[in-house]
Amino acid sequence: MDKNLEVLLRNWQKRNIQGIYCEKAIQARDSILELIPVSSSVGISGSKTLEQIGIVKALETRGNKVFNPYLPGLSREESLELRKLGATQADYYLASPNAIAKSGELVFFSAFGNRISGVSYAKNVIIVSGVNKIVSNLEEAIKRSREYATPLNCKRLNWQSACSSDGICRQDECFSPEYKRMCCQILIIEAEAVTGRLKIFVAGENLGY
Ligand code: SF4
Repeated sequence: MDKNLEVLLRNWQKRNIQGIYCEKAIQARDSILELIPVSSSVGISGSKTLEQIGIVKALETRGNKVFNPYLPGLSREESLELRKLGATQADYYLASPNAIAKSGELVFFSAFGNRISGVSYAKNVIIVSGVNKIVSNLEEAIKRSREYATPLNCKRLNWQSACSSDGICRQDECFSPEYKRMCCQILIIEAEAVTGRLKIFVAGENLGY
């Protein structure tokens, strides 16, 4: 394993966050399927990484109750309700960060707060990331989240923010009514109070943005 990853895993241990390294993303997916009982309910946040590893589909297919707010045909109210249930009532919550600092902090940007709520308060949280999201320190992690990951997410979701046309963040201009800002809330996980609540799988591949 890369020296930087060894340092990161040690830093998570110090912060009471359980870090698990998998060489391949598919190993992370299989481990998550083993970890979550079929009888458990699962909340999810929107994530290219989760989509890439196919975990939501695999959980739904084998019979887990997934509070999936991204199913086609849902009304806005139904989708918001499922986000709320997923973050507050599910046995497990799945998400991916925008960036990870080598020192161990996890950074999440959010528009509505469901991901922030789920990651900070759900009973069991499983985070998934590729190595591409690891940067040297917290400052770089916030920079990556705002200047790299969010513009790509805005583009992917056709979100009408100030960065969606050219990928350049204009945070001082990015307010309604002209724009739909995605960077409304920021969560920084520094450490975990409850042992075993927060697990993070890092795959030795690039995943998401
Ligand atoms: S503040 Fe606005 S322009 Fe900047 S990354 Fe966030 S959504 Fe894009």
